[in-house]
Amino acid sequence: MKYQSTRGHEVPQTFSEILLGGLAPDGGLYLPVKYPQVTADELEAWRKLSYADLAFEILSKFCDDIPAADLRALTRKTYTAEVYCNARAGDNTADITPLRTLGEEGGTKLQLLGLSNGPTLAFKDMAMQLLGNMFEYALGRAGLELNILGATSGDTGSAAEYAMRGKRGIRVFMLSPHRKMSAFQTAQMFSLQDPNIFNLAVEGVFDDCQDIVKAVSNDLEYKARQRIGTVNSINWARVVAQVVYYFKGWLLATSGPGQKVSFCVPSGNFGNVCAGHIARMMGLPIDKLVVATNENDVLDEFFRTGAYRVRKSAETYHTSSPSMDISKASNFERFIFDLLGQDAGKLAALFRDVEEKGGFDLSGTPEFERIRGEFGFASGRSTHEDRVATIRDLSARYGITIDTHTADGIKVAREHLSAGVPMVVLETALPAKFADTIREALGHEPERPAAFEGIEKLPQRFEVMANDVSQIKAFIAGHTGL
Ligand SMILES: *Cc1c(COP(=O)(O)O)cnc(C)c1O
Repeated sequence: MKYQSTRGHEVPQTFSEILLGGLAPDGGLYLPVKYPQVTADELEAWRKLSYADLAFEILSKFCDDIPAADLRALTRKTYTAEVYCNARAGDNTADITPLRTLGEEGGTKLQLLGLSNGPTLAFKDMAMQLLGNMFEYALGRAGLELNILGATSGDTGSAAEYAMRGKRGIRVFMLSPHRKMSAFQTAQMFSLQDPNIFNLAVEGVFDDCQDIVKAVSNDLEYKARQRIGTVNSINWARVVAQVVYYFKGWLLATSGPGQKVSFCVPSGNFGNVCAGHIARMMGLPIDKLVVATNENDVLDEFFRTGAYRVRKSAETYHTSSPSMDISKASNFERFIFDLLGQDAGKLAALFRDVEEKGGFDLSGTPEFERIRGEFGFASGRSTHEDRVATIRDLSARYGITIDTHTADGIKVAREHLSAGVPMVVLETALPAKFADTIREALGHEPERPAAFEGIEKLPQRFEVMANDVSQIKAFIAGHTGL
């Protein structure tokens, strides 16, 4: 498997090298030179596989530098019923990602693919848990250490910590705004007692935390000496790991070859739906890929009009589906690269326009036609009122409580149903994480998986830090011993 950068040409790195890196050296994102193809026969043979073994089959097409026996051991260690144990009554946990049919709507089945049964109750665990095991494996093989530095306002940080806790050769330094996360999210992260996890509560807001991460990353000498890395959503291994559940979802929703399925994906950084696009490019019979946004609708605007107009931080709303509050979708460049026929020159010109003019416009171009045609994309947006109404409706109609992000997905999916094509909505979090909106919609607390009962009362381990780059740098250096 050869890789390339969206900004340039072929790059010499193997999967294992890309695994530990972020951006390509030229500032682009990594993609394979050619997407591996899956035949209809192969797909049919995969029906009987466990999630772990399906993951092995798909991943082995992308990481041929990892010996097969090692890769299989990694997927089997990751995708276990013990790790993905938070499924609700009525879900079949043995599948890791249970598919639940809500009902018949618009002449087809409206279905929910449960991706939130991992340790932090959100779909990010699907990829991050594998990443933790792959990092430990790759670092061990190379005899290296990695110190992960990140900033979080909730979801990503906890998924990273639960994936990396106790892993050899890895430390996590996670910055969060002091006293600004929900009690549940704070407890989830700060109750971890693992010595390789450092929660740094910064006296500031989330943007301050992000600025510190940027400042540290820009100090190349420090970064190299302290072996600083990241686990952000452009990480190629995360995207590949997410490809797997589109295959699993298709296998669960169909009974024979060639049947089409549509997916609706609550979207922010475009990482999740980018994996769906890749599954489709590999030959999975996906009809539509429906991008659902909240009030932060950069992506919906693009897929409807062809105009990509990134928002400034001040124009980014804080919504009740906060993990989709994004003004600039970092994985979007991967799709645009394919849309432009992998023309790195054209892509660089468009993203220069993003830097200089705040966006680009493909309306009226042949590319815009191909987005809905050849690439199967559709989109829609959802608001707080839609979210609340959808949570109420699903509770009354189907007796299920969904979280706010999934509610955005259901709302938009219903606008794109076509008779005879199952619509699979990706459930990206469990409602226990977003109790405020659930109370507003239903007048009671969301159900909490047993493992999380009383989590707020557990002892917490964290350091309060000044909003000061040099103090954070000193703290990290003092704990890596490098
Ligand atoms: C991260 C996240 C999303 C958005 O996923 P992207 O890959 O950034 O598009 C949606 N819902 C939840 C609950 C998330 O945590």
